Amino acid sequence: MCQLTAQEHQKDPQNEFSDVLENYKRICYNVENAKAKYRSSDENIQIMAVTKTVAPEKINFAISQGITLLGENRVQEYLSKKDQYDKTAQVHMIGRLQTNKVKYIINEVSMIQSVDSIKLAKEINRLAVKNDRTMDVLIEINIGDEASKSGIAASGLDELIDEVAQLDNVRIKGLMAIPPIGCGEDVFDKMHSIFLRVKERSVPGVSMDILSMGMSGDYELAIKHGSGLVRIGTALFGARNYLEG
Ligand SMILES: *Cc1c(COP(=O)(O)O)cnc(C)c1O
Repeated sequence: MCQLTAQEHQKDPQNEFSDVLENYKRICYNVENAKAKYRSSDENIQIMAVTKTVAPEKINFAISQGITLLGENRVQEYLSKKDQYDKTAQVHMIGRLQTNKVKYIINEVSMIQSVDSIKLAKEINRLAVKNDRTMDVLIEINIGDEASKSGIAASGLDELIDEVAQLDNVRIKGLMAIPPIGCGEDVFDKMHSIFLRVKERSVPGVSMDILSMGMSGDYELAIKHGSGLVRIGTALFGARNYLEG
């Protein structure tokens, strides 16, 4: 939820990150507005700060202003920055994850949002057992059926969930999706329907607590359609300064 932890929020020209504070205030305001309009007051909508290409000092400033959740795309980049992070924020892996890299993050992150195959889930389970922990995961759906995107096709979802549910040290907490840029509202609605349908199935050991959907350009629309976790990069930190997928 939106917490602004600084006492006074005057724009401070001395602070090189004052734009991040302004952005964060605007996002909080928009999230609260969308929630008031479309959702019930007891629902919680988490704001994740997506950190790719962002310097640790800037990330730590966002944490000092109330951000409590970080989203990491690349294992390599994360490993190079994590020691400089303020450890009060939780970290979720949200990017495509190769099975041979799970070992680097198994004890670092509190959730892996990008599980889209039984192979990956089994490797997470194997390492979770070895490290005596349980890993929370979301199943990522390729809701736009885009060839370039990760995520499982919606048609294979039930089977994957049933298989992952058998793994003792992996716990499914919900679903994640990246609706295609500029797609119609029907795609968000479809994702919400899938989420509700899986919840309805009530598979033992599987909870549908979190629908992770919405980025800088579409988070209000995502909240309208049931999102409980929005992943914000550029609207918070500004434009990323190199090209990426
Ligand atoms: C980069 C990224 C985001 C944030 O994108 P913005 O448009 O910069 O907000 C969210 N989710 C995932 C999976 C990403 O890779």
